[in-house]
Amino acid sequence: MKVLVCVKRVVDYNVKVRVKPDQGGVDVANVKMSMNPFDEIAVEEAVRLKEAGIVAEVVAVSCGPAQCQETLRTALAIGADRAILVQTDAELQPLGVAKLLAAVVGREQPQITMLGKQAIDDDANQTGQMLAALCGMPQATFASKLTVADGWAEVVREVDGGLETIAVRLPAVVTSDLRLNEPRYVTLPNIMKAKKKPLETLTVESLGVDATPRCQTVQVAEPPARKAGTIVPDVATLVAKLREEAKVIS
Ligand code: AMP
Repeated sequence: MKVLVCVKRVVDYNVKVRVKPDQGGVDVANVKMSMNPFDEIAVEEAVRLKEAGIVAEVVAVSCGPAQCQETLRTALAIGADRAILVQTDAELQPLGVAKLLAAVVGREQPQITMLGKQAIDDDANQTGQMLAALCGMPQATFASKLTVADGWAEVVREVDGGLETIAVRLPAVVTSDLRLNEPRYVTLPNIMKAKKKPLETLTVESLGVDATPRCQTVQVAEPPARKAGTIVPDVATLVAKLREEAKVIS
């Protein structure tokens, strides 16, 4: 069985992002970039399936500029066997990415395609769902537990107010939630080994996909600055302020 894991290069989660002066987007010049945290969880899960003897091969795929090679090397260091970069400097949006990934799924024929539930830069939470629709496959999103057996995947999903367990017939698309696992630390020997693993580069044209963006960013703005708080001397003053100023109690 083969697992395809989709990994996105995003601004590192520790970076405080700055909006460009023209409000056209977020400034990514000289900013630390890393693998999207939910994708790290997806890679970890795929590698654990391999270590458990359920999966024979783990293939990582990323769409974006040449620097995505670093992200793919991280996936290889976690334990993926080989990697595919769909290289483009053009802007990609979830539908375009989903179309490119669908083309890769067509070539690779994985039994399970894993993605993060959401990319922390665009917060779209769309790519996995669109990919499943384009491939005509069942989808199990927000997975917090994955069990694979007999051509089926049983997935525990984090839903409002609890957990839902569903079973999907393979091949299927699974997107990872935060509690699926805790990704391992990447060790130096594995980083060295990852440098020797195969990394294939494809182009958008070679996949025959139109990945042109459908949405235009109108404006990106910083959130309004928070006003300074006040310290109240006692509970009575707090209650009075909540009633008379904030008007949140009556
Ligand atoms: P999004 O729909 O943008 O929130 O992204 C959800 C998931 O889709 C991510 O966690 C990745 O697994 C995958 N994904 C999004 N963009 C890319 C990309 N450029 N290359 C590979 N995978 C991607």
